[in-house]
Amino acid sequence: MSTRPWTLGTIRDMNLQLEAACVEPSCGWFTTYDIDKMITEFGADCELPTDAGGLTCGQCGAPVDFGLAAKAKRAAAG
Ligand SMILES: [Zn+2]
Repeated sequence: MSTRPWTLGTIRDMNLQLEAACVEPSCGWFTTYDIDKMITEFGADCELPTDAGGLTCGQCGAPVDFGLAAKAKRAAAG
């Protein structure tokens, strides 16, 4: 059972966007992360947190679900 961990570099290479959403439907807190900024800060080899050990909702304190979403491709990548 060896799943390759997602790293910030993988997400960037696949042109994905990292999102986090509160598990409480009534809360609706949602955020997206700036991958380029995170790579600058943590490095492209930084692995994503795979369980709800760290991050909590910024609004109500409940756990958050991570998600990866495809970014709309730009004509000129920059
Ligand atoms: Zn919340």
